[in-house]
Amino acid sequence: MARRNKARTVGELKASGYKPATVKEEMRRNLLAMIKGKKNIFPGIIGYQNTVIPQIENAIISGQDIIFLGERGQAKSRIMRSLVNVLDEEIPVIKGCEINDNPFAPICKQCRDRLAKEGDATEIGWLPRRERYGEKLATPDITIADLIGDIDPIKVAEGRYLADELTIHYGLIPRTNRGIFAINELPDLAERLQVGLFNLMEERDIQIRGYRIRLPLDVYLVASANPEDYTSRGRIITPLKDRYGAQARTHYPTTIEDEISIVEMERRRFSGDEFESYVPQYMKEIIAEVTHLARQSPDINQGSGVSVRVSITNYETILSNAIRRAVRLHEKLAVPRISDLSHVHASTGGKIELESFEETKEGKLIDDLIKKAVLNVFNRYYQLDEMERLVIPFDEGLIVEAADMLDSRAYLGVLRRVASLGEMVKVVNDSERPEAIASAVEFILEGLYVNRKLSKTKIEGKTVYRH
Ligand SMILES: [Zn+2]
Repeated sequence: MARRNKARTVGELKASGYKPATVKEEMRRNLLAMIKGKKNIFPGIIGYQNTVIPQIENAIISGQDIIFLGERGQAKSRIMRSLVNVLDEEIPVIKGCEINDNPFAPICKQCRDRLAKEGDATEIGWLPRRERYGEKLATPDITIADLIGDIDPIKVAEGRYLADELTIHYGLIPRTNRGIFAINELPDLAERLQVGLFNLMEERDIQIRGYRIRLPLDVYLVASANPEDYTSRGRIITPLKDRYGAQARTHYPTTIEDEISIVEMERRRFSGDEFESYVPQYMKEIIAEVTHLARQSPDINQGSGVSVRVSITNYETILSNAIRRAVRLHEKLAVPRISDLSHVHASTGGKIELESFEETKEGKLIDDLIKKAVLNVFNRYYQLDEMERLVIPFDEGLIVEAADMLDSRAYLGVLRRVASLGEMVKVVNDSERPEAIASAVEFILEGLYVNRKLSKTKIEGKTVYRH
């Protein structure tokens, strides 16, 4: 409908031929049109094209409410929010209604009274789709009043009113009427609220302060849960579980490339930043590899998972350390290096749960993950036989120092002393700038160390590579 000709009253809306649809009908119709038009329905969702997205689409086409099962940091919230993409741009509502009443069939008392009195002259408004999404994290302190609503306790105490004469103070779900409501961590919702939710969705009525109140809402309900909580007995009442027609299992990025794409999309950026920075591909791969290895580690609680946020914050940390170095040493370009990885303990530690409770073990565990990640990434770029020539100068007594606050130019000297190092640097770096070369040199030195071609000692914040 053209914006300028939008109906302003119930009468004009009738004349325009508008046909109301339920939210499920509307989502289904729009989704099918988008599939037909080959539109990207879930922009910014990476790695789910062949797994999660088909399940969501089938649920919408079937008109099924959906629950997303997955560990933390698997874009569940993002997917739930992006469901608004399949809503109409805007829908007509009775103007001023708290629960977005359909102009042709209002359910709240105020609107019913108003429509009876004003008829076709009743004013309508247009509700944009971004305002048709509500969400709530299930916590123990949520009440029926928060989620569904309450009635005036004084009027109830006076006992003079019939249920349909009582004015309801609407909660979150009625305020999302004709839209999408998402409950995060559904198993944490108290059982009596789950019962209330089920009654609301299935029986379309609700008990408030002993009154049975009819509330025929039209809501597409989505929820998220950790699979362990969801399957554990008694966490979700059976009828509510049955109400969700579809379960979509989310997952972590299956490839390093997807992990990196998400990191680059999500990482924090600062506007007006005057620092020139560059993160080499191998450093991105190491960061993603650390997370992928953590997801396979038996020492880490895989039930709570290892979020993509570990990759994102670790990436931010090494870049920040590189910026700190550039500022301190008056260098022009910030390029993360291996020695910056010692700082990711701070951004990894709080985001993983160990199977045992030893703090000393955590540091060692993270160090081992980093070491293995460097090994895996290095060995994708280099063959072992290429390294034999490199270590000759070390066999003859060469010692090289590396440190996160060491001047990038200091590394150029190593290039002159190790003849074939220059060629190896070129495999991962085509920049002439000392900051980029320093990073590549550290990558190769560490690669030789993790392949047991060099030894390494740490002395007063410096790393010393030698035979
Ligand atoms: Zn209303």
